[in-house]
Amino acid sequence: MEIAFHGKRALVTGAGKGIGREIARKLVECGAETFALSRTQADLDSLKSEVPSMNIVQADLQDWDGSRKIVEQLGPIDLLVNNAGVARNASFLEVKKDELDFTFDINVKAIVNVSQVCAKGMIERGQGGAIVNMSSIASTKALKYHTSYGASKGAVDMLTKVMCLELGPHKIRVNTVNPTVVWTEMGKAEWSDSAKSGPLLARIPLNKFVEIEDVVNATLFLLSDKSAMVNGTSMLLEGGLSCS
Ligand code: NAP
Repeated sequence: MEIAFHGKRALVTGAGKGIGREIARKLVECGAETFALSRTQADLDSLKSEVPSMNIVQADLQDWDGSRKIVEQLGPIDLLVNNAGVARNASFLEVKKDELDFTFDINVKAIVNVSQVCAKGMIERGQGGAIVNMSSIASTKALKYHTSYGASKGAVDMLTKVMCLELGPHKIRVNTVNPTVVWTEMGKAEWSDSAKSGPLLARIPLNKFVEIEDVVNATLFLLSDKSAMVNGTSMLLEGGLSCS
């Protein structure tokens, strides 16, 4: 199955590292004019040196007004991947307001902010579009010390359904991708300790965690016309964990 995005303009948030970086790279390969947005300029500079046709955009998504202005200046966006995310690990009894604010600002509120700008443009142009929001198995599966992260990803799943409901009539599809552990900087920081990851891995029938490429493939499928009737869903990338 070949996926091509010639003539499309794509925006990927959190594209400096990990999953977002590889999604942005693949979108360029598939012909989309791609905007890679992230916080650390050095990551964007190295991405640009590897992929010269990549458009790089520095913004801190925690800054609602500042990042909104930056996204507004990008012009039409047909394909949006809300990938930027952060994870903090306090236990439920210890979690602080600052951690909750930080996590929700980036994992949830930034999706609303960026998507409003992009979706309004899609509606004005009347050509539709596709949005993928990066969620996690933590959206539906309770994991210890995942109060802020799990709650934020639960919010991402429901936000996606509401977006699906309201944007569908404008030919805009909205879905989530929900991976288990992926070996990025975030994944390593959270799950390198085998005492912690072992029990989770043991419950996955395929007995492995997720490769970045798996997330890239699922995201590209959901952005493409190959998934024309897939809307408002959460695509689990967890090797069958939910069956165990
Ligand atoms: P990562 O390696 O930590 O990369 C996250 C990217 O998002 C970085 O480039 C980071 O930039 C950027 N970012 C974070 N906060 C930002 C902000 N305020 N403004 C702009 N950019 C910001 O994480 P990842 O593992 O690729 O995760 C990507 C997504 O997948 C996240 O939504 C995550 O929750 C989800 N996910 C990951 C896993 C996993 O195991 N890795 C599993 C399930 C779901 P800076 O480094 O400059 O802050």
